[in-house]
Amino acid sequence: MVVYDTIIIGSGVAGMTAAIYLKRANLNILLLEKNIPGGQINQTPAISNFPGIKQIDGVSLSLSILDQLKNLGVETKYGNVIDIKTGKIKTITTDLEQYKTKTILIATGRKPKELGLENEKQLTGRGISWCAICDGPLYKNKTVAVVGGGNSAFEEALYLSTIVEKLYLIHRRNTFRADPILLEKLKQKKNVEFILNANITKINEENNHLKNIEVNNQPLNIDGLFIYIGFEPATKIFEKINIKMDNGYIITNKKMQTNKKGIYAAGDVIKKDYYQITTAIGEATTAALTIKRDLE
Ligand code: NAP
Repeated sequence: MVVYDTIIIGSGVAGMTAAIYLKRANLNILLLEKNIPGGQINQTPAISNFPGIKQIDGVSLSLSILDQLKNLGVETKYGNVIDIKTGKIKTITTDLEQYKTKTILIATGRKPKELGLENEKQLTGRGISWCAICDGPLYKNKTVAVVGGGNSAFEEALYLSTIVEKLYLIHRRNTFRADPILLEKLKQKKNVEFILNANITKINEENNHLKNIEVNNQPLNIDGLFIYIGFEPATKIFEKINIKMDNGYIITNKKMQTNKKGIYAAGDVIKKDYYQITTAIGEATTAALTIKRDLE
């Protein structure tokens, strides 16, 4: 069985960036992904803070990086990691195959948080959405609600406000985590109404489709609900191998090394102050250069 120099778990922007550096350093690498490449940036309608590109949608950016990986000949496999054995040579088992590697880079990112209400999962794609860019056009001239008070909720609300007839921004407090510039922009939208100090208390369904929601126990008629209430790191599997974490986020040093020799982490999966595409790219670069040096 081939022993890779590095297996990168997760092909979001961090995983793909590391793959570019490691492949160009002539290492034998494998990029493992369980869904579609790109990760969270696929959910971002407009990226306007990527240096050198005035504005790009996340899907286009991830496809462009993917194309770069193809040109470099990066080997990519699909599979959900179900087990990891540590040691000098590490074994990664997915639901499909088993691989051996000298080092591992964890770049599994984080997934959107759920409200935890009945019908939430069941109605995903049936009136409930986690992706404005994917599903926004379905609600042209209709009424939707966006829940959350952070940058994600506000960016998605701004995007959706250009499509829908009416948008409610529902937030559990009356102050926001979102940047003031986004707040000002959203306030200026005539079709946006803020519902503050408010929680969604119920999601009602009819014929397996969203019927309406209840906000502070009062019914609110909407056609679509977009949930943007933060994220949870995808690190459950790494608890088994005792990777040091804080609140589920992996702790690394400045070189992106974890507490386990030969295991590194980068991107949204790590504990840090700023979760940006550009920070993920920086960490992935550091991780790749550290891996190269540690392998020498
Ligand atoms: P976030 O900043 O953690 O905001 C989550 C929001 O959801 C908060 O307003 C929170 O309310 C609310 N919330 C959490 N759990 C809830 C629940 N159970 N019910 C109702 N509301 C709930 O998450 P985010 O907006 O996804 O952003 C994540 C990170 O990415 C942030 O650092 C953000 O700045 C960054 N980001 C940056 C950009 C950009 O710069 N272009 C774009 C998107 C995201 P409370 O405020 O009351 O806790």
